[in-house]
Amino acid sequence: MGEDRWMDLDKLHAEQLDIAKAILASASSIAVLTGAGISTDSGIPDFRGPSGVWTRNPEAEKRSTIQYYLSDPQVRRDAWRLRAASEMFDAQPNAGHDAITALDRSGRLHTLVTQNIDGLHVLSGTSPDRVVEIHGTVHKWECVECGVRGPMEEALERVRAGEEDPSCPLCGGIVKSATILFGQSLVAADLLRAERAALEAEVLVAVGTSLSVYPVAAMVPAAMEQGHPVIIVNAESTPFDDQAAVILRGSASLVLPAMFI
Ligand code: NAD
Repeated sequence: MGEDRWMDLDKLHAEQLDIAKAILASASSIAVLTGAGISTDSGIPDFRGPSGVWTRNPEAEKRSTIQYYLSDPQVRRDAWRLRAASEMFDAQPNAGHDAITALDRSGRLHTLVTQNIDGLHVLSGTSPDRVVEIHGTVHKWECVECGVRGPMEEALERVRAGEEDPSCPLCGGIVKSATILFGQSLVAADLLRAERAALEAEVLVAVGTSLSVYPVAAMVPAAMEQGHPVIIVNAESTPFDDQAAVILRGSASLVLPAMFI
């Protein structure tokens, strides 16, 4: 009985995959939205999945909230200590990132909007001018006072040399990674590009995102309102599953190559 259920599930997936491929084959312009789930197979944990960083330790959310980061030196020391040991800087793109790069090279990628800060899409070879890193990048540091930026490795070297909370070399201000923390506004131009992608592309594919972080998650209902099919690839259910054209419940690194290549 148990095996039959898996067979049914596989059959269902095969059918869903065929529908997804048919939708994509007839589209000349495809938008993709990715979240932390596309990078878990590169060894970077997500936040809200079953073994996500926040699922295991709800206190960790504070490090991603600007008010706590600015007001509590301990939050900043913890953030720098963890960043200096983070697997994110050695991670390599996986077959999911590479499948989107292949889509880009086929000339049909409208825009790739990523919530990820790990830089793996560009490392995989997707053209930087088609990628919107809507939550910024961990590969740079920035000063919250004067706005100057620099390579993250520079700041991490200071941390490894013993500075627990490195300050801005120019003005002495508080330094953070060049990511958008909760409580900060998104870059208006990036948000506009994300909105345009949802409205203009013929199909939207949402991959490895719980679709619970706004305003980015609003790309999905925006595309649906235009009558564009939305394909959701995620390990767990999302709030938009009922209205999606196709749901593929599997790992992005397996599903995307099967779907795009
Ligand atoms: P999330 O943690 O809210 O959700 C990730 C989703 O991906 C979950 O629903 C999970 O079930 C699914 N998932 C996990 N592994 C998967 C896999 N191999 N294949 C398919 N699905 C998989 O992530 P989010 O919606 O992107 O939002 C969290 C925020 O945290 C983002 O805004 C991002 O800025 C940040 N973040 C980034 C990274 C990164 O850059 N790699 C990692 C963690 C968090």
